[in-house]
Amino acid sequence: MTSTTTSADLFARAQQVIPSGVNSPVRAFGSVGGTPPFLTEAKGALLHDADGNEYVDLVGSWGPMILGHANEQVVEAVRAAAGRGLSFGAPQPGEVTLAEEVVRRIGPVEQLRLVNSGTEATMSALRVARAATGRDVVVKFAGCYHGHVDALLAEAGSGVATFAMPGSAGVTAATARDTVVLPYGDSEAVAALFAERGGEIAAIITEAAPANMGVVPPLAQDGVGFNRFLSETAHAAGALLISDEVLTGFRASAEGHYGIDGADRSWAPDLMTFGKVIGGGLPVGAFGGRADLMGLLAPAGPVYQAGTLSGNPLATAAGLATLEGLDAAAYDTLGRASSTLQQLVADALTTAGVPHVIQTAGTLFSVFFREQPVTTYEDAKAQDTAAFTRFFHAMLEGGVYLPPSAFEAWFVSTAHSDEVLDRIAAVLPAAAKAAA
Ligand code: PLP
Repeated sequence: MTSTTTSADLFARAQQVIPSGVNSPVRAFGSVGGTPPFLTEAKGALLHDADGNEYVDLVGSWGPMILGHANEQVVEAVRAAAGRGLSFGAPQPGEVTLAEEVVRRIGPVEQLRLVNSGTEATMSALRVARAATGRDVVVKFAGCYHGHVDALLAEAGSGVATFAMPGSAGVTAATARDTVVLPYGDSEAVAALFAERGGEIAAIITEAAPANMGVVPPLAQDGVGFNRFLSETAHAAGALLISDEVLTGFRASAEGHYGIDGADRSWAPDLMTFGKVIGGGLPVGAFGGRADLMGLLAPAGPVYQAGTLSGNPLATAAGLATLEGLDAAAYDTLGRASSTLQQLVADALTTAGVPHVIQTAGTLFSVFFREQPVTTYEDAKAQDTAAFTRFFHAMLEGGVYLPPSAFEAWFVSTAHSDEVLDRIAAVLPAAAKAAA
């Protein structure tokens, strides 16, 4: 049995002073039970906890650690930046270089603002969209997560065209009324809503490929990809499309999802949001897009948005060093690690007779414990979460740290070498058996 005594003590202490002992809910292991390991160190693909246990990491801090933990170039860049000062609250060169790098890599982004989290990014993008259109309503999809913005913590009402209900205590009914929640991938529902209320809608916000209900690729319907359909539908009604790339950005390429090759940007999103990878493990988010929309921001424009630590020099140094490490070879490595791991998991679950389906978007993937493909949040919920929980604990016991929820993507990094994958392969048969 893995020792968890120190983590258990820390968890007990944490619960005295931090609600549920954690600073973000999923970390509490609420859906899988047990004590979350308190992590003390990480290097490459490996984590160490306060009890001296070592794990292969498949969470990667929920996305940012795409080059693995404590990557030398990233750490060196942060160390050098720290020596020059931790925060200026004034323009600094690193924010210019990071913004230039994002603009260079992501076609639809002509300008961007750096913020401190993905939540701030989506909140600010919504504000710009509402200001630009003079409309209030935003459309989101069930199962897509865009951070804990009040307006985006909304749940579907009783009918597809009804306004949403608060998705959290503390969100006012008035705020939720400006949000409509539709089933993901349902073009008919989108078309019906726009037919009825198109003139009220400021924007559709969608994950470029949903990955917060597990990975659900945006499928084409009648030959038209869902993202393209959303863009064309929004634009026909004078609304905007906000593509939330906080999770997918620089991992499951934006360009890939939009099929934008530089020649045809006609259906590109108007605004995009980023986070995770562009901060390389430090707190960074960004929102950007068409220059005319971004020009609405203060001080030149009427949309207020600000941040004491926005464009922080340590954060931009970590983000830049991470993007610099993400060359073609890095994406090859990620792609290989991801597909090898998917195959290993599929083989183990098949051998043990565990119903499963693996879904991918770029190098992102998730494993659903059900046989049929998942195209909506309802599908995702109709999986065998008890089987996942057994699988999760057997993997953890065997030294593999999976996301502690059946509704999350698994994250590999460039540090997931063949040797690391072999360690996972050694644990999978027993875990698959436990899930059966
Ligand atoms: N948007 C998406 C697609 C996300 O996955 C997340 C976080 O997981 C967010 C927004 C919120 O980002 P943050 O947790 O940095 O506020």
